[in-house]
Amino acid sequence: MNRLGIYVQVPFCQTRCTYCNFHTGVVSSTRFAPYVACVCEEIAGHREFYAAAGVASPAEIADAVVDTIYIGGGTPSLLEPAHLGCIVGAVRENFASELSEVTLEADPETVTEGKAAAWVAAGINRVSFGVQSFCDEELKSAGRMHRRADVYRAAGMLRAAGITNISLDLIAGLPKQTASSWQQSLAELIALAPEHVSVYLLEVDEGSRLGGELLRGGNRYSAGDVPSDDEMAEFYDTACSVLRAAGYEHYEISNWAKPGFASRHNLKYWRREAYLGFGAGAHSFSGTERWANAHDAAEYVGAITAGRLPVEQDEKLTAESALEEELFLGLRQLEGIDLERIERQYGVSLDSRFARLTSAGLIEREGSVARLAPERISVSNEVFVELMK
Ligand code: SF4
Repeated sequence: MNRLGIYVQVPFCQTRCTYCNFHTGVVSSTRFAPYVACVCEEIAGHREFYAAAGVASPAEIADAVVDTIYIGGGTPSLLEPAHLGCIVGAVRENFASELSEVTLEADPETVTEGKAAAWVAAGINRVSFGVQSFCDEELKSAGRMHRRADVYRAAGMLRAAGITNISLDLIAGLPKQTASSWQQSLAELIALAPEHVSVYLLEVDEGSRLGGELLRGGNRYSAGDVPSDDEMAEFYDTACSVLRAAGYEHYEISNWAKPGFASRHNLKYWRREAYLGFGAGAHSFSGTERWANAHDAAEYVGAITAGRLPVEQDEKLTAESALEEELFLGLRQLEGIDLERIERQYGVSLDSRFARLTSAGLIEREGSVARLAPERISVSNEVFVELMK
């Protein structure tokens, strides 16, 4: 039986965090209901929309059973619970489904007892919090709305409502972060005993206000208080050892889980399994083709209302790009990749590429399995650059 993941993008936030490089907007809540109606329309009419937009909808997808839904953003917890119920209901009505994991991304300050209970009633069984830090000074300088106390309050409400799968995110590299505040954030996170943890390094690019300021060498948004690259790498290494000691399995470069709690939905991305994305900016992958909707929420709503899917990118993968994805995405998983399987599937020999990386100490081999050398995970980008040469 083919399995399928569904991703739903909710591109709305209350404010814009200084480090944010996502396509998301601060809009009036009156725009939420029309947006949700369009997402549900896209879900219901996806076959016709795909056919009209010229994207493939192969038989494997038509017959697939949806087992995971991920509602991300943005801040989807800003929506009314009834909106989320409509989205999950639209998936159930329009696909064969055996839902084992339904994730909602949430900001801690948006959680209330009533919302938590309604989320569970809507079928949501996993909540992923953008905590980022347990230090109020860091949260404030990053432009976050929540404070440390909100995380404790929200986690308690979710547990009381019956959510048994909580994921907490931290960011290494926020302005004003120090080795000791990072240790403190890790210790508080572990004390809350989430089932799943993500640790991201601050991304520095023109897509965020803070990133742009850093690139220009300015000091706005506390850019002068951002830890150095070496400090960030040390924070990451500290997270690896602290989380390992607390019983978390490091299963992907940025992700750790208690046994049995690896994100089933996100594993589909790294294993190149099929998923369909609905909403503005949502990406889809059929196994042979990748496409994405227009990022602008107003443009998306306008197009769907006019009966058209606003596809912005559409790429039919060549064997060469599929192979690159196998290597790049596969190696993000710490269990590694089976080179024999890939060589068989793509009719190529990877011996020379991997021999070079193994002798440079970047890759570890165990039979036909190749994986990132544990001590080189924090410099995985260098490995990927080497691999693609
Ligand atoms: S809550 Fe998330 S998506 Fe929204 S602005 Fe902040 S980082 Fe960006």
